[in-house]
Amino acid sequence: MADDWRGRSGPIAVLTGAGISTDSGIPDFRGPQGVWTKNPIAELTSTYQNYVADPQLRARSWLARRDNPAWTAEPNAGHRALVDLEGSGRSLRILTQNIDRLHQRAGSSERKVLELHGNMFGVVCVSCDARATMRETLDRVASGEPDPPCLTCGGILKSSTIMFGQPLDEKVIGEAAIYAQNCAIFLAVGTSLTVYPVAGLCEIAVDAGADLVIVNAEPTPFDGLATEVIRDPISEALPRLVSDLIARSEAG
Ligand code: ZN
Repeated sequence: MADDWRGRSGPIAVLTGAGISTDSGIPDFRGPQGVWTKNPIAELTSTYQNYVADPQLRARSWLARRDNPAWTAEPNAGHRALVDLEGSGRSLRILTQNIDRLHQRAGSSERKVLELHGNMFGVVCVSCDARATMRETLDRVASGEPDPPCLTCGGILKSSTIMFGQPLDEKVIGEAAIYAQNCAIFLAVGTSLTVYPVAGLCEIAVDAGADLVIVNAEPTPFDGLATEVIRDPISEALPRLVSDLIARSEAG
C-alpha cells in the first residue's frame, strides 16, 4: 500500500527546494510562475562565469540581492511542520537547496539543516575567499559602490551561494549523500529534481532501500521511483504528512 511507508521507523532525510518557500512569497525558479520560466535569459546570466566576466551584470546582481523578497519573508506551515517533526524526536536531517534560511528561522536546529547551495546572508571573495556579511556589503552598495570589491584583496565579491557553473561544496554534498544512504524515508519537497548532483540523492536513497516520497506540484523525473507522489500544496500536504508520521510512530 502506498501509505505503508508512513509506519516505517528510522531516519528521515528531507530534501527541500524552492517550492517550500513559495507560500512565504519567494518565487521559485522552474514552476509556472517561476523566475526562470518567465525570464529564461535570467537563468543564462546567473552563471558564475558570466558574473565574474561582467561588472554590469554584477551591479544588477547586487540590486537584485537588495530587493530579494526573502529578506522580509516569514516561514510558513511547511517549514513549521519540519520543526514539529524534529520536536517529535524522530531522527531527521533537512537537506535544503534554498538559500533563505527559513528552516532555521522557523525553528529547525542549525545542526539539522544542511545548506546544499549556501545561503544569501554572507558574501565571499572569489579570489582570496575572504568573507563578509551581506548586510554590510549591501550597505556599501547603498553608499555608492555599484560592485563593491573585496576589502582584503580588491577581488570580486559574490553572495555565499552556489551559482550555476560552480561546483557544490564536496564536503556538504558528501554529507548529504551519507544521509541519503542511511535514511529509511527520503522526502523530496518542492524541488523539480532536475539538477545534479542534488537530484541524484533520490537515487542513492532508493538504491539503499529507502522509500522515496515526493511532494511537488509538478511532475519530476523521479516520480516513477517514488513510493508515493503528492501534488497538493506543500503548506497543506506537509503538516498533514508530519502529523501522520508522528501519530504512526507514537502508535507503533
Ligand atoms: Zn579577496
